[in-house]
Amino acid sequence: MKDIDPRMHTAEHLLSGTLVAMFGMGRPFTTHLEKKKSKADYRFARTLTEEEARSVEERVNALIDADLPVREEYLSREEAAAQFDLSRLPDAAGDRVRVVHCGNADACPCSGPHVASTKQCGRIRLISWSYEDGALRVRFRLEEP
Ligand SMILES: [Zn+2]
Repeated sequence: MKDIDPRMHTAEHLLSGTLVAMFGMGRPFTTHLEKKKSKADYRFARTLTEEEARSVEERVNALIDADLPVREEYLSREEAAAQFDLSRLPDAAGDRVRVVHCGNADACPCSGPHVASTKQCGRIRLISWSYEDGALRVRFRLEEP
C-alpha cells in the first residue's frame, strides 16, 4: 500500500465498519483512497437509498465526533484468522497481523497509516453510491476538521 492519507484511511475503516454493522455486508474488496476523494467497492446486491446513505454518513460522523482513540494490536496469524477475513492481506505481511482498532467501534487487519484519534478525520461526506458490475460502489470525501 503506498502513500495513503491517514485521515482517509481511518475514515474508510469507520465507513466500512458502519456498512458491515448496518447491512451485514463484508469489508470492501477494493478501495481507492486518495486525499481529495475516495471510493470503496462492496459485495452487495443493490445500491443504497438516499435515506440509507445519509444515515450511514450520520453514523460515521458520530464515530468521528466521539474522537475514538485509534490503536494497533498485533496478533498471531492464527488468532487473527479466527476473528477476521485475512484474504485481502498479503502473505508477505508475515506471522504477526496488525489489527487497527477505532475505540471499540471497529477492528480490522490493516498495514496502512491512520490518525491518532477519529476527530482528526474531519467530516465525511458521501458523494455518490451506485450498483455497478455486481457491487455497491460508495464515493466519499472528507471536509477539514
Ligand atoms: Zn487502515
